[in-house]
Amino acid sequence: MTVRDRATEIVRTLQSAGYETYWVGGSVRDLLLGGQPNDYDIVTSAPPEDVQRLFPDHFLAGKAFGVVTATFPEGLFEIATFRREANYTDRRRPDTVAWADAKADVLRRDFTVNGLLYDPLTETVIDHVDGQRDLRLRLIRFIGDPEQRVLEDPLRLLRAIRLKCQLDFQYDKPTYEALRRQAPEIRHVAAERVRDELARMWAGPRRASALHDLDQVGLLQAILPEVDNLKGTPQPYEFHREGDVFEHTSQAVAALPSDAPSFLVWATLLHDVAKPATLTYPSGSQGRISSRSHSDTSAVMAGAILRRLRAPKAEIETVAWLIGHHMRLADIEHMRPARQEAYVLDPRFPWLLELLRADATGTTPTDLSLYAHDLKLYERLKANHERQVRERPPLLLNGHDLQTELGLEPGPKIGELLEQVRDAQLHGQVKTKTEALKFVRGLL
Ligand code: ATP
Ligand code: MG
Repeated sequence: MTVRDRATEIVRTLQSAGYETYWVGGSVRDLLLGGQPNDYDIVTSAPPEDVQRLFPDHFLAGKAFGVVTATFPEGLFEIATFRREANYTDRRRPDTVAWADAKADVLRRDFTVNGLLYDPLTETVIDHVDGQRDLRLRLIRFIGDPEQRVLEDPLRLLRAIRLKCQLDFQYDKPTYEALRRQAPEIRHVAAERVRDELARMWAGPRRASALHDLDQVGLLQAILPEVDNLKGTPQPYEFHREGDVFEHTSQAVAALPSDAPSFLVWATLLHDVAKPATLTYPSGSQGRISSRSHSDTSAVMAGAILRRLRAPKAEIETVAWLIGHHMRLADIEHMRPARQEAYVLDPRFPWLLELLRADATGTTPTDLSLYAHDLKLYERLKANHERQVRERPPLLLNGHDLQTELGLEPGPKIGELLEQVRDAQLHGQVKTKTEALKFVRGLL
């Protein structure tokens, strides 16, 4: 059974038991836009106890909110009882939840295109909010009074931008004005909710538009003042004709591949974040402005920013490593071979190359020669390494042999001897176990 068939069956089960039931939200929106929904949210007039009885395999995600998650081989399905919400005194969670009818349930939702109901059995759309019109016009429009809806839950500021970029829509004017006027309200939203929405923006191919919109409505200043502060920070014209550091950063973000992981987007967005703080102006008529050591300081600042947003520790560390190394790539040339190999074969190195490419592409005039050179070096070392691993002959001796055949005590000496046997083997000096034992005896 397909996910869609299962979602239809769930509606059938509930309707057969006498309950009004629909698909709602993102699934209806994506379906009407001609896409394949990734999950189906279901709303019903059945009280949660009846939903639980009809779907014995379930768990309760938010019992207080009347949401039952039914589990099937095809996946998880959230089945929510129609509800209205009232009084958002903490701007996050409604104080009270009351069971309601389908229309009231739709009116509490954020945007018209997210407020459509669909009955898969009769194949009819139920539209209390002109959502179909806005899908046609490709508009993001708040249901109800925009200012009010933002004040209830200011996360909707970010959801509006995320959805607009995800769908490649435009904002309805009053919705956009509410975003601009109420942007500072975002300070009431928990850091992890903000981070989740940003991550969803960064995940999409229109992440550069999202950054632009965040800036235009004033959310960038409220959430990431350090990035906002890059505006007006000059760069040496000789190397950066594109403009100030913010312009450079925006263009670097725009240059990322569309499937870039969020840590790479963060690294690109924050790679020069210390430039305002490390900027020095020339003392005389000679020299030029520069930001020496900005990469180390940027790495530290990026760590602080991501900790403030409660990012996972592993992500913070990777971002800081990438930023801290983004100016060191020219040094690879001068490393000793073993050090160079270890560096280039670090699993993070390919992402460092992506950062380097985005950084260079976001710079005018664009010079990709260092990137191209390092990419070649990486590919050569990687191929070498893979060949060595593949061609590594089986060991002629192991530690056990040395103990039983030669009476050696366990200890670090054994490891050293085995390394020497391996070298002799690679150079063709020993070819059999007997020869290898003789070789070790000679060493002893
Ligand atoms: P996606 O395809 O990204 O999952 P979605 O529309 O399904 O998009 P969800 O975050 O899964 O988004 O939310 C499901 C539905 O719940 C939305 O379509 C919307 O109707 C409603 N919703 C979610 N968050 C809010 C919110 N903060 N305020 C009002 N309604 C919301
Ligand atoms: Mg969803």
